[in-house]
Amino acid sequence: MANSKYEYVKKFEADDRLPPCNWIVVRIDGCHFHRFSADHEFEKPNDKNALNLMNSCAVSMLEHFPDIVFAYGVSDEYSFVLKETTQFYQRRASKILSLSVSYFTSLYVMKWKEFFPNKELKAPPSFDGRVICYPRGKIIQDYLAWRQVDCHINNQYNTCFWNLVNSGKTEREAQEFLKGTQSKDKNELLFQQFGINYNELPAMFRKGSCVYRDKVEETVKQDKGGNSIKRTRNKVVLAHIDIVGPKFWSEHQYILEEE
Ligand code: ATP
Ligand code: ATP
Ligand code: MG
Ligand code: MG
Repeated sequence: MANSKYEYVKKFEADDRLPPCNWIVVRIDGCHFHRFSADHEFEKPNDKNALNLMNSCAVSMLEHFPDIVFAYGVSDEYSFVLKETTQFYQRRASKILSLSVSYFTSLYVMKWKEFFPNKELKAPPSFDGRVICYPRGKIIQDYLAWRQVDCHINNQYNTCFWNLVNSGKTEREAQEFLKGTQSKDKNELLFQQFGINYNELPAMFRKGSCVYRDKVEETVKQDKGGNSIKRTRNKVVLAHIDIVGPKFWSEHQYILEEE
């Protein structure tokens, strides 16, 4: 009663509910991670521990938010796909976005010591985020393909760049050297000059990281005869696989199934 005089201030709030029947993508990206990675001496071009930390946070995101059906990560970014029927916070964009970003950031800080036991966290990491609606599962596939192709292009360039720098070129010279080169030229350079077969580099670097739920067979216990008793369980899994081609999606149709 006493507060009713002030109630009208609520009317200034915008209704930011996202349209129904759309898949929702939340993409977060590390803020100034060029500097953050230098301050924490990340290995170049790919620091395995830093990527594993991002991936561990993404796995925890799927375990915490049941409406996230898929996540794809590369470098300092992660995309989270929420199913098209989600009623999470009535689909309010600012709620979904702020919760995703703040929960991920907290996980990153909490898990830091696990992945960098000998490195102190020197500055508070932060992530920006955006939310995008896509009306069809097919467009989600294209969105994810876009991110994975980007991962490939950047990783191939960065692998060349850092090998050139480590072999004595300045960063400027390495950049000049790579200007205008095609994918084929870069593979050739890596092989001829550095003895690196690009396709043999870790899949996590080349393909990025996918997180989703899958049926996994687990041994629950042994019976008296020593036979394993197995049970299939829905588990959050991490994989570094191709999601550009149709194979993954035809084998995992339940992920982007529409109601
Ligand atoms: P912004 O705030 O605009 O996102 P940024 O400095 O974070 O700026 P990005 O384009 O997001 O720029 O690029 C992220 C940078 O973080 C990369 O260029 C790379 O230097 C660094 N980085 C992120 N993850 C890793 C990693 N696992 N190993 C090495 N370097 C990394
Ligand atoms: P939502 O997730 O929708 O924000 P909420 O439970 O966080 O829900 P709010 O409307 O944000 O609800 O209200 C915050 C509530 O948190 C308060 O009503 C109060 O119960 C509790 N709270 C916040 N700060 C304190 C505090 N310092 N001491 C005691 N209780 C607090
Ligand atoms: Mg960034
Ligand atoms: Mg980035």
